[in-house]
Amino acid sequence: MQKIAYLGLGSNMGNKITNIENAIKAIGAVKGIRIIRVSSCYETEPWGKKDQDNFMNAVVEIASELSLLELFEELQKIEIKMGRQRLEKWGPRNIDIDILLFGDEVLESQKLTVPHPYMRQRLFVLIPLAEVNSEIKFPDDGMDIKEVLNRAIAREGNQRINKIV
Ligand code: ADP
Ligand code: MG
Repeated sequence: MQKIAYLGLGSNMGNKITNIENAIKAIGAVKGIRIIRVSSCYETEPWGKKDQDNFMNAVVEIASELSLLELFEELQKIEIKMGRQRLEKWGPRNIDIDILLFGDEVLESQKLTVPHPYMRQRLFVLIPLAEVNSEIKFPDDGMDIKEVLNRAIAREGNQRINKIV
């Protein structure tokens, strides 16, 4: 069964926009995944760990014939193929691919939590997500994206975000 999913992409090393474009190409080339929409790129200040270069972030909407775990494995392979090094949590990376939402599925396990555990606090996720689909409802608590975004802005409105392309 096909599921609609949303992926968050981030890069803060090398040519960040090219890294994001290459990741989207690689995701679209996976059998069983079709890219539906791509958000603009947004330049954002680092979150969590502040002493590093700005990030470029984007969100893609996909249709997936793969299960959630199969999708996660494919995305991990792309991160590794693109040379992602995991030196430190929340540290610099040439590419980060997160599963934000996967249809109506809710999962909490050691390696994978969906909806993504930090997405409700991250304007750099919520803003491009609302750009690709402003009608999303969260499967865990039924909140809609506009409400989640408004709450995040009220709490964290000081995260600086610039729309790039
Ligand atoms: P972050 O994406 O929060 O900046 P990392 O990419 O360094 O941090 O975190 C990597 C780990 O997060 C992965 O090894 C993966 O097991 C775990 N993880 C948990 N939930 C998700 C999710 N929804 N999407 C991607 N990775 C996730
Ligand atoms: Mg990640």
